[in-house]
Amino acid sequence: MIEGNLLKFNYYRFTCLEDLLKFLYENPDSKLLAGGTDLIVQMRSKKIKPDKIVDISRVSELRYIEEDKDSIKIGALTTIEELKNSVIIKKWAPPLWTAVKDFATWQVRNIATIGGNICNASPAADTAPPLIVLRSKLRLRDLKGQRLVKVEEFFKGPGETIIKDGEVLTEVVIPKYEEGWRFSFIKLGKRVSHILSIVNVAVGLKRAEGKIQDIIVALGSVAPTPIRSRSVEEYLKDREATYENIDRASLEVVKDIKPISDVRASAEYRVEMSKVLVRRALRECLTS
Ligand SMILES: Cc1cc2nc3c(=O)[nH]c(=O)nc-3n(C[C@H](O)[C@H](O)[C@H](O)COP(=O)(O)OP(=O)(O)OC[C@H]3O[C@@H](n4cnc5c(N)ncnc54)[C@H](O)[C@@H]3O)c2cc1C
Repeated sequence: MIEGNLLKFNYYRFTCLEDLLKFLYENPDSKLLAGGTDLIVQMRSKKIKPDKIVDISRVSELRYIEEDKDSIKIGALTTIEELKNSVIIKKWAPPLWTAVKDFATWQVRNIATIGGNICNASPAADTAPPLIVLRSKLRLRDLKGQRLVKVEEFFKGPGETIIKDGEVLTEVVIPKYEEGWRFSFIKLGKRVSHILSIVNVAVGLKRAEGKIQDIIVALGSVAPTPIRSRSVEEYLKDREATYENIDRASLEVVKDIKPISDVRASAEYRVEMSKVLVRRALRECLTS
């Protein structure tokens, strides 16, 4: 039992995934600790008071970036700094690489994990919109088996996901994109780095013969979960790839967002900035 700062909890640490899954099967009320950059903040503010903390930071088999013929695979315990330094991520997941480049500070990036950023389910999580536009999936494992779910179907609300008791996010799978796709990611915050996003936007766009053949647009910090803007996508699909169409399409984003006012910005500001950022991100894809 550990007591500190008026919090009491039982602490367990694992180095092997199989042992971890067995423990979680018998102790489904456990709270996982990866880098702790979200969890410890929440515990200190008494937002959560877990009784059992399970430290997974030393399960080294969940820390890798691998490339095969069709996909990129990222272990859930891979740190944000490792993603930033990866040539595989820069080549095959360009919007994710842009997002992690300006993520927090060097100190935080060295302990914060991609799995923690996703499972914390903050609407402002910077890796979520890029993973959505890259059509990524998450591998969730428990003692009895595993399932692969789309990132965009993982989030249920602020801090809430479809993950079940006893399950662990083990891997992020990013399919390799085809020739012709262009990507962008833009984060708006009070500073470039070391700050949570007021709005973040990721876009993937495929052009063919002057038209937008396929498009996917995702935003963070403008709804209870990271979202796709289907209205912008539907407006642009199969239209001429012109600045005029892009500028008109970016206004459609207001149909898909439900921002709130908080310490970082007002809802009205988020609405205006969503239009601006979607336009910029789309234009970046046309010019890159
Ligand atoms: C100063 C500072 C700056 C920050 N800047 C940014 C920023 O620019 N952009 C941004 O998006 N975030 C930012 N954050 C938030 C935070 O650093 C990230 O969300 C980070 O990636 C969380 O990862 P972690 O490993 O620390 O997660 P933890 O705090 O260990 O865990 C977070 C949550 O996920 C759960 N969890 C962790 N791993 C798993 C797993 N494998 N399976 C199931 N559940 C799991 C935990 O139980 C917990 O509920 C910042 C935080 C700080 C303190």
